[in-house]
Amino acid sequence: MTAGQPAPDRFRAYGPRHLDEIAARHGLPDDIRETVRRISLVLPFRVNSYVLDELIDWDDVPGDPMFQLTFPQRGMLPADDEERLAKLSADPADRPLLREAVQEIRARLNPHPSGQQELNVPTLDGARVPGLQHKYRETVLYFPGQGQTCHAYCTYCFRWAQFIGDADLRFAAPDPGGLLGYLRAHPEVHDVLVTGGDPMVMSTERLRGHLEPLLDVATVRTIRIGTKSVAYWPQRYTTDPDADDVLRLFEQVVASGRQLAVMAHFSHPRELESDLARRALARIRATGAVVYCQAPLIARVNDDAATWNALWRAELAAGAVPYYLFVERDTGPYDYFKVPLARAAEIFADAYRTLPGLARTVRGPVMSATPGKVVVDGVEETPEGSFFRLRMLQARQPSLVGRPFRARYSATAAWLDDLELDPATPADLAAAVRAGTAPEGTPR
Ligand SMILES: *Cc1c(COP(=O)(O)O)cnc(C)c1O
Ligand code: SF4
Repeated sequence: MTAGQPAPDRFRAYGPRHLDEIAARHGLPDDIRETVRRISLVLPFRVNSYVLDELIDWDDVPGDPMFQLTFPQRGMLPADDEERLAKLSADPADRPLLREAVQEIRARLNPHPSGQQELNVPTLDGARVPGLQHKYRETVLYFPGQGQTCHAYCTYCFRWAQFIGDADLRFAAPDPGGLLGYLRAHPEVHDVLVTGGDPMVMSTERLRGHLEPLLDVATVRTIRIGTKSVAYWPQRYTTDPDADDVLRLFEQVVASGRQLAVMAHFSHPRELESDLARRALARIRATGAVVYCQAPLIARVNDDAATWNALWRAELAAGAVPYYLFVERDTGPYDYFKVPLARAAEIFADAYRTLPGLARTVRGPVMSATPGKVVVDGVEETPEGSFFRLRMLQARQPSLVGRPFRARYSATAAWLDDLELDPATPADLAAAVRAGTAPEGTPR
């Protein structure tokens, strides 16, 4: 380190136990602090000094989008639940009742705690391969066991059940052995998407242990890493003790002749404004890795066209590629965050219209559902009424990829299962869509 420069931040996670410290340091009003305390009994939060100091605008809480993104809020739970939590937490004698109430509220918010990880788990020689999901022909998702948390939590994240310890973590892979066996048996898989949690919470040594063996598998042509680290802890690529090592690891993957894609999760243009974030992006790009950007559309965080337009422009300016805008799925405080499909399509179209051509690589709004990834291309007015124009961007069955279809327009529908398909939809497509419309986890 150069003399005279401040010592770089070392990563430290802050949670509900540090709420008073955070509130005092950033001048959080008492009433908001108490709301956060109550709601966080049910919905976890986790932040770090970078999120607190660089991303949140404390003069604008609670409305600030980064505060909404990382702290639990009034309105995320029904008012009577919040009251009940307030009452029971006032008296230490009520502790057992409080614990019961928390369990009960959580169970209502998350009826299928382990459903997410159980889907699309492939088998090899008749045994399930933990830590893998294989849904689309080209791509296998890989969940390394030590990468199942994040630098900070997003309040809308469907992984919250995992973060409170409800979901079964045995689905994750202790080591890449199962993945390697599966890839050798499935040469049609060319793409491994390493996801979590956030794989970039791992030390470089650990990450190397998961990635390096893939370089011996000739059929693997691309490796993707899904991560929010550039937004939530850019020090991972700048000042962390093993920041240089991780960049060297990226270079090594690129030097092997493979495409390395960092699938970066950016929710708001502010996440690209800090010098650290820009330096992190520049350093990642200098390794030869390509940065693709994606995020869900979330009420109160980024539900307006100007925000997305600014975000995609900022990504392009940083040399990154806008990739997907997702529709938020039903989990946790879904009613708080959801945006109807009609509104999502409008926001997307308005934000897209004035983009430079090079930023029009982005697609959305996209629902990641059981049959595949379905994009809402817009609304079509016909003599028979209005319809959503939909298209399969990804499908379990390759024959369905790219196929357009329609559903009756609805101003309030927020997911595929709220939609009424046009009766003229081709039978194979209609069958696939009707067979399952449930949301499936969206890897980043
Ligand atoms: C989105 C997704 C992928 C990757 O899809 P791309 O369109 O190639 O980015 C892979 N597997 C699953 C299960 C997905 O949901
Ligand atoms: S959205 Fe990504 S970064 Fe945010 S909590 Fe979920 S897994 Fe972590």
